[in-house]
Amino acid sequence: MIDLSFFAGLPVAVLGLGKSGLAAARALQAAGAEVWAWDDNEDARAKAREAGVPLVDLNQVNWQEPTSLILSPGIPHSFPQPHAIVAEAKKHNVEIIGDIELLARAQRDARYIGITGTNGKSTTTALIGHILELAGRQTAVGGNLGTPALTLEALYNDGIYVLEMSSYQLELTLSITFDVAVLLNITPDHLDRHGGFEGYVKAKRQIFHRQTRPRSAIVGVDDETCSKIYSELKAAGEQNVIGISGERLVPGGVYTQNGVLIDDTEGARTPVMDLTDIPSLPGSHNGQNAAAAYAACKAIGVETPVIAACLRSFPGLKHRQQIVAVIDGVPYVNDSKATNADAAAKALACYDKILWIAGGRAKETGLEGLEPFFPRIARAFLIGEAAEDFAKVLEGTVPVSLSGTIAQAVTEAADAASRLPGSVVLLSPACASFDQFANFELRGDAFTAAVEALPGERGEIAVPALKPTPSPAQSPEGAA
Ligand code: ADP
Repeated sequence: MIDLSFFAGLPVAVLGLGKSGLAAARALQAAGAEVWAWDDNEDARAKAREAGVPLVDLNQVNWQEPTSLILSPGIPHSFPQPHAIVAEAKKHNVEIIGDIELLARAQRDARYIGITGTNGKSTTTALIGHILELAGRQTAVGGNLGTPALTLEALYNDGIYVLEMSSYQLELTLSITFDVAVLLNITPDHLDRHGGFEGYVKAKRQIFHRQTRPRSAIVGVDDETCSKIYSELKAAGEQNVIGISGERLVPGGVYTQNGVLIDDTEGARTPVMDLTDIPSLPGSHNGQNAAAAYAACKAIGVETPVIAACLRSFPGLKHRQQIVAVIDGVPYVNDSKATNADAAAKALACYDKILWIAGGRAKETGLEGLEPFFPRIARAFLIGEAAEDFAKVLEGTVPVSLSGTIAQAVTEAADAASRLPGSVVLLSPACASFDQFANFELRGDAFTAAVEALPGERGEIAVPALKPTPSPAQSPEGAA
């Protein structure tokens, strides 16, 4: 647990008692702070009460007393409108910060690597953590991914925190300066929480806040917005700026082209390794993630051959193009984490003859941008709230079954697969899960359980006959 004794004796409010909020309340308590913890949800309050965390109804307090409000990243502080408690705290000029800000204030001597982007954050964070751990560096991995920041181990001079940073967390973490900051990509998402696209981009750019040399900014150039940020940072020349790509040559950067990872940071285009036979890193999007992880680890001083060896042994993450079973030769792929069309596009680009399970609670952009992949989809099995709207979009191009639930979709897809040699069953929903599940993990678990219940002969889990990563010239327009 992180020592927050700089708050000893002071009243501190904590709003939001999920995993990270509860960890923050407990760390503050252990440090001797006077904790005022609250959550609108009765179940969350009950859990906190059980854990011995003191509850104070923050709707009823005198905001002249607490020094700070520690806010969970999921609670709106500005858009679409601030939560009533936050609005009240703001009125009294109480500082509003997140748990990672507390970590940064407590562990000033450690080094920090931050990873953000619309998609690929968790994979890249896990990759960097995996490489640094195997390379023998003292490392703690957390933030938006897995372990809450304040339950991470305390690290000092030689330690490196690898933190996945959502746009919400970046807005609540103002004093951190990352030694290595990674921005993978930006496509429209969570716009309601940032008052529009501009606000979202501003939050993401926060990852480079106060960076000067020798700190490094690692920036994806595969989308227009990030490409512009890359050029602006390069022109400003404040920090080392390294461009990365999963699909095209970046002079002076690190990139993956036709599956080969290339390092051009030292004046020569040096091939590092072939990524195409690493089962945990399929597709050009993972080429981008691998390039980012490589550049970040190199920037922090890990040698090229070590990074290459560690990339090879990356076990992958659950719910991200995870092959959960191969039954009668058919791979079943759990990509439940693909909660928007852009993420689903990445998985659809990797396979042919796809039996596609999609749907849930649709994002604003619906299936926009997925049209070039429709010819690869043999049939769509639609679930959840979005099913009927998606069926209309697919009408006339892709045969559709209105399956309703994951279990039904898996049964129907398995039946279709038995008549379609060479097919792949892919859950990549392009939707949030909240209409039917508490989170994407439970949706992925439901898929896995339904697949496990299927009859048939189990095969070895290996890379399916993947469609080779399309080079930009061949890739469907606007979708790579
Ligand atoms: P995040 O943590 O940002 O949500 P994940 O690493 O969990 O990202 O991946 C979520 C989904 O996004 C994956 O299932 C995959 O389909 C897609 N994805 C992963 N990496 C990238 C990337 N670099 N660019 C675009 N999409 C990606």
